[in-house]
Amino acid sequence: MLTDSFARRIDYLRLSVTDRCNLRCVYCLPAQGASFSPREDVLSPAEIERLARVFAGAGISNVRLTGGEPLVRPDIVEVVERLARVPGIGDLSLSTNGVLLGALARPLARAGLRRVNISLDSLDEERFRAVTRFGRLDEVRAGIDAALAAGLSPVKLNVVVARGLNEDEVAAFAALTQSAPLHVRFIELMPMGETGFFSKERWVPLAEILAAAGPLEPLSGAERPVGHGPARYYRRPGARGTVGVISALSCGFCASCNRLRLTSRGLLVPCLDGETGTDLRGPLRRGADDGELRRLLEETVRTKPREHAMAAKAEAAAANPRFMCAIGG
Ligand code: SAM
Repeated sequence: MLTDSFARRIDYLRLSVTDRCNLRCVYCLPAQGASFSPREDVLSPAEIERLARVFAGAGISNVRLTGGEPLVRPDIVEVVERLARVPGIGDLSLSTNGVLLGALARPLARAGLRRVNISLDSLDEERFRAVTRFGRLDEVRAGIDAALAAGLSPVKLNVVVARGLNEDEVAAFAALTQSAPLHVRFIELMPMGETGFFSKERWVPLAEILAAAGPLEPLSGAERPVGHGPARYYRRPGARGTVGVISALSCGFCASCNRLRLTSRGLLVPCLDGETGTDLRGPLRRGADDGELRRLLEETVRTKPREHAMAAKAEAAAANPRFMCAIGG
């Protein structure tokens, strides 16, 4: 079992499999000039499996694949297949923008993927294109349908809420949970990214999001959809799905943080907001044995900070030089 210096149990890994993305969401990546890692710098499926075995042996039981956009990796089905057979990984999930999910949902489910989170910030075609810069809403809708049809469950929709972008769509998103088994999670905008998009004016506080989502009943543990993150869940009366909220700034979620992040280049990062991490790719490629990799993992867990410093960064957002895509959102 992995425990950090603040007695938090660490059992959740967010594993970025690529820093590339097929969209350029306005709050995440610049329209032009984003630099992506050369392919040889990115961990191979075999390297990912090797690290996952070490992590699982140390107590990591939940793995979420993320990016960048994980589905742009041509070998993503192989990555899932390899991870699904690692003993100890009980929950294998994936975050995606959904663009390529229409074709991939079934092969991924067959390979052992349990569930997906699909990011979607607008239900309006034109606005969706404006947010993602060149995305097509019908492709994401097809991806959602394919995920449900492939039996991936639960299917969660992640909606980043920003003023002037989509704060007027909160009610419409919440209404999607009424007749379909969809779990819509509203995410407060965070001061991440080099796009300069974050500002206090654009930030919509949690209380305002909840008020706009309509009548909601809080859900107890057993009623919540499977997950290991910091969301708080509610249900609209009579709805099949749920409404969740995730807030990095309004209510710090660090006290219950259970996660580590591994970038696609093999950097193990103990906090989303952290500036540094531990290189695992170097030792891995130099032939480190499992014991050495596990020692590096345990040392990194011990450096996990008590809490992130995003509130301060919100004040100086423009100075924050990291892309969510690179760190694995
Ligand atoms: N491409 C995948 C996807 O779209 O889910 C995975 C990577 S993406 C970086 C992960 C999540 O981070 C998405 O839901 C995205 O909306 C969110 N995200 C990116 N930048 C953000 C920011 N500044 N504030 C809040 N959420 C952000």
